[in-house]
Amino acid sequence: PSSDLGAKLDASTLQVTLTPSPKIVPAAEDLAFGKHVTDHMLQIRWTEKAGWHAPQIMPYAPLSLDPAACVFNYGFECFEGMKAYKDSAGKVRLFRPLDNLKRFNESARRIALPGFDAEELLKLVAKFVEVEERWIYQLPTHTLYLRPVLIGTSASLGVTAPTEALLYLIASPVGSYFSAPAPSAPRTSPDNLPTTTPSTPQSALKKRQTPGILLKSLNPYHHARAFRGGAGCHKIGGNYAPCIRVERDAKKHGFQQVLWTTPGVEDEEFVGEAGTMNVFVVLRHRGRLEWRGEQEETEVFELVPPPLDGTILPGITRSCVLELAKSKNSKMPYVKVNSAWRVSERQISMAEMASAAAKGDLIEVFGTGTAAVVTGIRGIEWRGEMISCGEQGEVTQLMKSWIEDVQYGRAEESGWSV
Ligand code: PMP
Repeated sequence: PSSDLGAKLDASTLQVTLTPSPKIVPAAEDLAFGKHVTDHMLQIRWTEKAGWHAPQIMPYAPLSLDPAACVFNYGFECFEGMKAYKDSAGKVRLFRPLDNLKRFNESARRIALPGFDAEELLKLVAKFVEVEERWIYQLPTHTLYLRPVLIGTSASLGVTAPTEALLYLIASPVGSYFSAPAPSAPRTSPDNLPTTTPSTPQSALKKRQTPGILLKSLNPYHHARAFRGGAGCHKIGGNYAPCIRVERDAKKHGFQQVLWTTPGVEDEEFVGEAGTMNVFVVLRHRGRLEWRGEQEETEVFELVPPPLDGTILPGITRSCVLELAKSKNSKMPYVKVNSAWRVSERQISMAEMASAAAKGDLIEVFGTGTAAVVTGIRGIEWRGEMISCGEQGEVTQLMKSWIEDVQYGRAEESGWSV
């Protein structure tokens, strides 16, 4: 289907019906990711014949769909995850919202759902956020998580492109993503380290100054999230359900997340994503330089995000980290005389990470995502061994604060905060 047929999405035709019975907004301490939803939802129907219908903001309510609807049978579903923030002046902000809505559009087209004008949808998202403003806490790390969803609703068991669809938006107030604080070095006792890692270098992990999560890396021949040419780079529901069982098993063994990898030649495994976060690895390369007859130590720090090769979601937070590392290159940590920062989007294998760790040159690993912002990774279990992922976490901390400063309107105004 194509949005070129029938009416285009038009925000000016919005109809708003407010709920007669608004809920009590929960206390900030009572929030958990996705536990509460707000009072309203945005709904927009699409039919192949008529195109996009008039959008509606209406009281939050269950949907009524035909059991034959193609979303239930063949998984015609894609979604987005974005947030609204309240700054210290009480103004509501969105963070790079058009990037999310463009990605939403691409996900939709990948699974034969109708495309739409992302800028029109942004106007509707903004209006919705205005209606739900009282759900946005003016507190650090608190946000209103916005979940746009697009489903195929045509009631026919034929395996074909949907001829009817529903785009809706719901919202959930959230505090910090990892509900329990991620285990930090001083509080970690050997008892709560994963039991499946007998050769864990616990002493190395204990030295860490900053908190971080533990990952279990997965063998790509047993558990793959995505493959080249597949749909892993899109935010479609079908990419998520098959990941949960193995994530749940890892959590039972004391890990917070899994590390998805992709296969290379022979038994090579390349770093992919950490649960629903993009991954960054910080490496140090050391060498000697001869300068006016004297030998000098030189260091290059390399920030490595795995490339967007079709197996990785192009995260908005990932692109922020990349842009910040380039634009604020001179403000990046660790740099001394004779050292420099490089940013390279390239494949990085588990073996390369393990060997860097063994030499003390795996400086940091972190994950990025709308929900988790920037989260330090403390250790990664790989082939029964624990790789210790550095101790300082300065890039992790700096990226997190740079990004949050923009999100909460504390930084100089940039196009990122709307
Ligand atoms: N990878 C996956 C699989 C995700 O679901 C997400 C969350 N959208 C991310 C990475 C991070 O993307 P973003 O920074 O846009 O939230």
